[in-house]
Amino acid sequence: MRYNIVRKMDISNGPGVRVSVFMQGCEFHCKNCFNPETWDFEGGKDFNNDTIDKVLELCDKDYIKGLSILGGEPMHPKNIEATTELAKAFKEKYPNKNIWVWSGFKFDKDLKDKEVMNYIDVLVDGRYSDELHDPTLKWRGSSNQRVIDVQKSLKNNNIIELK
Ligand code: SF4
Repeated sequence: MRYNIVRKMDISNGPGVRVSVFMQGCEFHCKNCFNPETWDFEGGKDFNNDTIDKVLELCDKDYIKGLSILGGEPMHPKNIEATTELAKAFKEKYPNKNIWVWSGFKFDKDLKDKEVMNYIDVLVDGRYSDELHDPTLKWRGSSNQRVIDVQKSLKNNNIIELK
């Protein structure tokens, strides 16, 4: 499992000041992807326990509101174990901070039964569609993508989008 980069202060991906982890590897290859350097599963750096420790340490600051996990594809079969370990460790240490994840997979079709969903607050799901690109949208690049309140959606067995 590999990651592309850790940003220690990110104000673009989720609410407030956040730590962001960009996983390495994505097979979707969406047209005009914002981050094609993350496609290659052999690129980036090794993701291991030291990576998790480093991320948790960065998240300790009071001004860090949460953790964002992007890609690449955090939920690809080659990456989901690392994403799960990271999300679980973060929630155990910071139960009052939130986790946002961006994935090309769909919540209802692909992800709702995965263990990692127990630790995620918000999932922005679905592949980026260049035809549906809309720069006025918040937290997502195209109108087919959904900003999902994961815990409410799991509890109600229905997709509840963030307002
Ligand atoms: S799913 Fe995300 S990282 Fe993968 S190709 Fe599409 S926009 Fe790029």
